[in-house]
Amino acid sequence: MTSSFDSVAVVGGGLAGARAVAALREEGFTGRVSLIGAEPQLPYERPPLSKEFLSDGLSPDQLLVHPPEFYDEHRIELHLGQPATRLSPGDGTVELADGRLVRADRVLLCTGVAPRRLGVPGEALPGVHALRDLPDAEALRAVARAGVPVVVVGEGFIGSELASTLAGLGADVTLLMGGDLPMQPVLGVEAGDWLLAQHRSRGISARPRSPLRAIRGHDRVTAVELADGTVLPAGAVVIGIGSVPAAELAAGAGIDVHDGVLVDSYSRTSNPAVYAAGDLARFPSTAFGRALRVEHWQNAQDQATTAVRAMFGTAEPYDGIPWAWSEQHGRRWEIAGQPHLGTAVARRGDPDSVDGALWVFSDEGRVRGAVAVGRRRELRAVLRGLARGVTVTEHDVRDESVDIRTALHGAAA
Ligand SMILES: Cc1cc2nc3c(=O)[nH]c(=O)nc-3n(C[C@H](O)[C@H](O)[C@H](O)COP(=O)(O)OP(=O)(O)OC[C@H]3O[C@@H](n4cnc5c(N)ncnc54)[C@H](O)[C@@H]3O)c2cc1C
Repeated sequence: MTSSFDSVAVVGGGLAGARAVAALREEGFTGRVSLIGAEPQLPYERPPLSKEFLSDGLSPDQLLVHPPEFYDEHRIELHLGQPATRLSPGDGTVELADGRLVRADRVLLCTGVAPRRLGVPGEALPGVHALRDLPDAEALRAVARAGVPVVVVGEGFIGSELASTLAGLGADVTLLMGGDLPMQPVLGVEAGDWLLAQHRSRGISARPRSPLRAIRGHDRVTAVELADGTVLPAGAVVIGIGSVPAAELAAGAGIDVHDGVLVDSYSRTSNPAVYAAGDLARFPSTAFGRALRVEHWQNAQDQATTAVRAMFGTAEPYDGIPWAWSEQHGRRWEIAGQPHLGTAVARRGDPDSVDGALWVFSDEGRVRGAVAVGRRRELRAVLRGLARGVTVTEHDVRDESVDIRTALHGAAA
C-alpha cells in the first residue's frame, strides 16, 4: 500500500492497540509501526481478568492478544513499560516518559480508561484494589486464596461479575451497591432483580443503597464504614465504580476531548494526523442519534480497524452497535444496543430455565437494546436488527411461537 506517510505510532498497548498494529500490516503498510504501551506486558485480553483468570487459573501467556513472535514477524517496534507523555502532531513525534522521541507521521490513540477513584479516607491502604490490569487480577487471585472477607464496591459490570466469580471460588463477598439492583442501567429492573436474587442465592451479601464512607485499617484494610455508620469487616476491598477515559495526551495536544477523545465516523480526531479508538473514543452513532463511548471488547477491535483503514482512505464509516457479554454464576449474559434508552421492556422465556430469557427494550416500538441470559441466537438477531432501526411489539416478543426474526419489523433480520 502506498501512502503519504511512512511512520505510525499506536499509543496504548491494549486490545485496540494490538488490533491496530495487526491491521496496519494487513492493509499492506510497509512503513515504520511503533506500539507504545504504559504496561510492561505484551498486549493482553482483559475480559478473562474478572472471569477465567481467577476461576480457572489461566496463565498470563494465555491472555496474549498475539503470540510474542508476532511483533518481530510483523516488524512492530515495541516500546513497552513506557507511557507516552507528550504528543506533538505538528513535529510528528510522541515523547515517552524516559524522554525518548518516537517518530510518528500518524498517531492512533488507544489509551483506554483508568479506574475511577472513590475519594474516601483509606482508599490508599494496602488491600484496596481496582480491577483493570494483570497485576490487579494477580492480587485478586491471592485475595481469593486468602479466605478473607472481600467487599466489592460498585454493582456495575466489573463489580457484579467479580462478586460472582469470587463467590464461585468460595469467598465471603459483600457487594456494596450505590443503587438498588446490579447493573440496573444496563439490565433494567426485571433482569437486574433476577441477577440480585442470583447473587444472594450464591451467598453474596448484596447491600442496595449502601455508599461507602471510609475504609478503615492501619497497615492494611481491616473494615469498611458505610454512610449509615455500619462497619463491616474487610480483608480486601475492590473498587469497581466505573472508569475515566485516559485522554490527557490528546487534551495536551489541543485535541477535542469531552468524556473521551471526540472522533468522527472514521476515528479521526480534531487533529488530522491523530486518530483514536477503543474505550477512549467517543464516536457519532447514527443508530442511536448521539455520540457514544463504548467500553467493550468488540468495539475496541472494530474501531481500531476502522481507524487504520481511514488512514489509507479505505474505511467504511464506523457505526458499531454496542455489544458485550458477561459471565455470572455460570450463566452467560449478552447485552446489545442501549437498553436504558427503552421506555418499554418485554421478555420472552424464563431466566431460570435452561433456555434462558431475552428482554427487548423499545421506545415507541423502536428497538433500543436487548439483554439475554442464554438465547444467543435471538440476541444476535436483535443486534443485527438494531443496525437497521427495527421495530417490535411487546406481544411478539413475549409470544414464543413468533420467531424473533419475524417479530423485528422494518427489515429481514
Ligand atoms: C476486568 C475486565 C473485564 C472485562 N470484561 C469484558 C467483557 O466480558 N466483555 C466485554 O465486551 N468487554 C469487557 N471488558 C472491556 C474490554 O476489555 C475493553 O473494552 C477493551 O480492553 C478496550 O480496549 P482498549 O485498547 O480501548 O483499552 P485497554 O485494553 O484498556 O488498553 C489501553 C492501554 O493503554 C495503556 N495506556 C494508557 N495511557 C497510556 C499512555 N499515556 N501511554 C501508553 N500507554 C498508555 C494502558 O496501560 C492500557 O494498556 C472488560 C474489561 C476489564 C478491565
